[in-house]
Amino acid sequence: MDLGLIPFTAKTFAARNDGTDVNYFRPQIEQMDGYTPGEQPQTGKFIKLNTNENPYPPSPAVPAAIMRAAESGLQRYPDPLATAFRLRAGEVLGVDPEWILCGNGSDDILTILTRALVGDGQWLRFPSPSYVLYQTLADLQGAAAEQVAFSADWQLTEAFYQGRDDLRLVLLPNPNSPSGTLIEADAILDLAQRVDCPVLIDEAYVDFSEQSCLPLVQQDPRIMVCRTLSKSYGLAGLRFGFLVAQPVMIDALRKVKDSYNCDALSIAGATAAIDDQAWFADNRQKILTTRSHLAGELRRLGYEVIDSSANFVWCYRHDQSVEQIYRRLKEQRVLIRYMNYPGWGEGLRISVGTDEQIAVCLQLLADVVVD
Ligand SMILES: *Cc1c(COP(=O)(O)O)cnc(C)c1O
Repeated sequence: MDLGLIPFTAKTFAARNDGTDVNYFRPQIEQMDGYTPGEQPQTGKFIKLNTNENPYPPSPAVPAAIMRAAESGLQRYPDPLATAFRLRAGEVLGVDPEWILCGNGSDDILTILTRALVGDGQWLRFPSPSYVLYQTLADLQGAAAEQVAFSADWQLTEAFYQGRDDLRLVLLPNPNSPSGTLIEADAILDLAQRVDCPVLIDEAYVDFSEQSCLPLVQQDPRIMVCRTLSKSYGLAGLRFGFLVAQPVMIDALRKVKDSYNCDALSIAGATAAIDDQAWFADNRQKILTTRSHLAGELRRLGYEVIDSSANFVWCYRHDQSVEQIYRRLKEQRVLIRYMNYPGWGEGLRISVGTDEQIAVCLQLLADVVVD
């Protein structure tokens, strides 16, 4: 059937009228690689244990609230400050709502922070190995990314504490990914004191740990904490995260964010999610129980497993490369994350799934190791 479409012909956009070469992109954009998210297959049936999503659906109150929001008032712009969420989250966390800034996922919060704080040629520091997006955010700003390696036992080294004039922001995922390890609150207070610039604690996984840095935000105005509903509330698809910081920081950051960075449906869903603390507590317990089973079984299969404070475990082997193992599982439609960090080595990051998913994964791992 001829739809009469005009065929698309790609035209180069690299020459001026007089034929001279031109590139309209900022040099920083030309040179950067861009962030590659974990595999998100949209077809086929995979057991997905590669991007730390919650294996369980969110509280049923979430789709109900989204339906109600969808049926009333989508013709209006949403609340630019997501006040309904801030009020409820403030009660649950014991935080003044004026200390909360909401975002389209915590990735949005990270973007707002780097746009606001880190300019061309200035420095952004984060530990390595950690969240790969941080490098991309530095690249977008034309900033220099200072990656400081963790010590062998996943603690901060002296270099991480060193102040420097052009350092504008320090990012610290806590618990960290891919290791699932924690830095103690005392060390973080010490860090803020010594670097003497804003320090963001990225608490994407904190709900699966025993410690939070939230109280530190009151103790030191340089310390900020960001959270997401993607992991511990089972809402990766909704896109909702938030920052807790002193009001002076929040006020300035409001100028930088998109006016309507959270849509009406996500605000309604996120508010219902944080309101259902019974769902949250039950889900958390299930994940922690499965995590400890997974870690124990991996050790039984001869893996080195780092004690995890998150909803995944990081493991590796002394006797063989784990890259083949990742591939074999993928052939069997079980996706886990293979990572190989220059100067650090390789490992597998396995997200905590349901008990059934983890049983399938462990069985495949047992078969592969025997080979
Ligand atoms: C998953 C993750 C995020 C992003 O969360 P979203 O709210 O889904 O954007 C941020 N930081 C770390 C360390 C993460 O693992």
